[in-house]
Amino acid sequence: MKRDLFSDEHELFRDQFRRFAEKEIEPKIAGWNARGMSDRETWKRCGEAGFLGANQPEEYGGSGGDFLYDAIIMEELARIRAHALMISLHSDICLPYILAYGSEEQKKRFLPGAIAGEILTGIAMTEPGTGSDLAAVQTRAIRNGDHYVINGSKTFISNGQIGDLFIVVAKTDPDAVPPHRGISLILVEADREGFVRGRRLPKIGLKGQDTSELFFENCRVPVSNLLGKEGQGFGMLMEKLQQERLCIGVASIASCRRSLEDTIAYVKERKAFGQPVAHFQNTQFKLAELATEIEVGQAFVDKLLVQHVRGESIVTGVSMAKWWTTELQKRLTSTCVQLHGGYGFMEEYPISMDYADAAVQSIYAGTNEIMKRIIAKDMGLG
Ligand SMILES: Cc1cc2nc3c(=O)[nH]c(=O)nc-3n(C[C@H](O)[C@H](O)[C@H](O)COP(=O)(O)OP(=O)(O)OC[C@H]3O[C@@H](n4cnc5c(N)ncnc54)[C@H](O)[C@@H]3O)c2cc1C
Repeated sequence: MKRDLFSDEHELFRDQFRRFAEKEIEPKIAGWNARGMSDRETWKRCGEAGFLGANQPEEYGGSGGDFLYDAIIMEELARIRAHALMISLHSDICLPYILAYGSEEQKKRFLPGAIAGEILTGIAMTEPGTGSDLAAVQTRAIRNGDHYVINGSKTFISNGQIGDLFIVVAKTDPDAVPPHRGISLILVEADREGFVRGRRLPKIGLKGQDTSELFFENCRVPVSNLLGKEGQGFGMLMEKLQQERLCIGVASIASCRRSLEDTIAYVKERKAFGQPVAHFQNTQFKLAELATEIEVGQAFVDKLLVQHVRGESIVTGVSMAKWWTTELQKRLTSTCVQLHGGYGFMEEYPISMDYADAAVQSIYAGTNEIMKRIIAKDMGLG
């Protein structure tokens, strides 16, 4: 179905990015998936071409476009299965914290380099002992004169090995009541003493994504690296997680389209009982249902995109979209594997990777259970 949220300029941008991605990104994906991470050179190329700053202000080196430009990048990366290159983590999840809450000095220090692809970013919330319950983080940043001394462990951190700058969620007041009032966000450069990278964690899917442990061992960071105000980190996270969840919805639907397209091509080709698998009514009904659900999901995500660009609150809507689109993706990839028969279980066929990659979509950026809690709260259910 025709989508009506993009202007001619957006479509032109999509063509440009698609050409760039086919030349500079697609040939490298298999290598990244084998190695478990992307490479700095490609990030630099993306920065030089202006693709890390499409939605960032011009004064820091961006192009000043709206969020739809970045949504286009997400869709195009999903189309070619370039999960390893986490541009949306960098541009749409991490940089907005600096832009919204950073001091002018911090913005000047970090944003131009980040937009140029020279300073790669990550966000370190999750710890071995806590993920969903963010207020329970144990990492501490205790003030000592002009510095914070950070101690603690983080896990599952995207861009953990390749990143240069991390937004670290830590307790500056471990005794605060309620506990979330003790949380602050601190910018930590990876070359600081006491910042230690742990293992890059082997995973069942998203093989090219760099997901790692990080440790802070008496890591001294100047107070000038505090993002926003002390004790207000939790509120900042709740605010910025909305865009993160929208990114998941956008990428989920785009990934569903790719999986469906590949499956349609496969069932037309593959024969059983003397006819293409596409001719069985079961195949037709299943694929017709999934195609319908993709359009329903796309309409919902597009509506949220428009509202988000207008600056409207999308807290409940984006929580609905996050759980719904990711559950669709899991169901869709499972059905598509089934329609591929045994070949769907072979790594040689991308649908097998799609199935494994989909599993985490309902887990990160707030699990789907947490999304339903947010929706229920909005319904007055406690
Ligand atoms: C590939 C990958 C990349 C990631 N990247 C990052 C990153 O860059 N930065 C970062 O900080 N984190 C990252 N994460 C971590 C991710 O955000 C967490 O895994 C997620 O928030 C869930 O936390 P948890 O794993 O501790 O699960 P838990 O919180 O232990 O949850 C376990 C189960 O309990 C359920 N549950 C928990 N609380 C409730 C409740 N109140 N009601 C009902 N059910 C509940 C959950 O939904 C889940 O099903 C990443 C994770 C993965 C797998």
